[in-house]
Amino acid sequence: MQENLTSEGKCLFCGKTFAKAGINRHLATHLKEKTETGKQALSFLLKVETNKRYSTSPYFLSLWIDGEAKMKDVDRFLRDIWLECCGHLSAFKDLKRRRSGYGMFDRMEAYDYLDSGNIAKYEKMMEEISGEIPMSRKVKDVFYKGLTLEYEYDFGSSTELEITVIDAYPIKADKKIVLLSRNEPLEIMCSICKKVPATQVCAVCMYNEDAVFCDKCAEKHAKKCEDFADYASMPVVNSPRMGVCAYVGGTIDKERDGVFDLKS
Ligand SMILES: [Zn+2]
Ligand SMILES: [Zn+2]
Ligand SMILES: [Zn+2]
Ligand SMILES: [Zn+2]
Repeated sequence: MQENLTSEGKCLFCGKTFAKAGINRHLATHLKEKTETGKQALSFLLKVETNKRYSTSPYFLSLWIDGEAKMKDVDRFLRDIWLECCGHLSAFKDLKRRRSGYGMFDRMEAYDYLDSGNIAKYEKMMEEISGEIPMSRKVKDVFYKGLTLEYEYDFGSSTELEITVIDAYPIKADKKIVLLSRNEPLEIMCSICKKVPATQVCAVCMYNEDAVFCDKCAEKHAKKCEDFADYASMPVVNSPRMGVCAYVGGTIDKERDGVFDLKS
């Protein structure tokens, strides 16, 4: 993808637009105000972005999550908005929870528990071996201000995310998970003509070069790239999983998925 793409999102509460670097500080001011009138409970402001160890793409989500939600609810939400293609496995990991001294045989033992249906034992072992957080756990028993988790969807063609708990609030969230902001479609322009927004990506060439095309230039690419003509043409979508596996876009917040709009 092009370098230095601008990434900005709208605040759900006031509709103003902020750069990725400032949006969560802004959202926190709204949540702080809400603590004066909100129902006593526990909720969290989360920043979700691509894991910097693997990618520098500037996608982001800002989520307000109720403490009673479970990790599997967060997993479901991430799948629905950014990731789901064919039901791959996923995991949240807190690398600080890993204990040393485990080897391959422990992992195999854990998988045996999974096979025999002893999920509780499996989850306990995986938490110690790899820092994996059980999907059934409530977020209030996992999250605290400053916590950073890694998240992986699809252990083959992985999409790697990083989740940071920006702050905790002593109130109930308006829903289990509230989408406070996300990056508007990035200004991804056609890599051939550079004049119009790209609508298609070549899922094969994208690993070696800028391979996003407008519909017209996609026809040119199809002439020299057999894979693209055959199967590798994927839609440009507003997600870090663009072009990977069979991913064609999210199932929620669809109005902000898709292609950059030149007019806006
Ligand atoms: Zn606002
Ligand atoms: Zn897939
Ligand atoms: Zn073009
Ligand atoms: Zn290609």
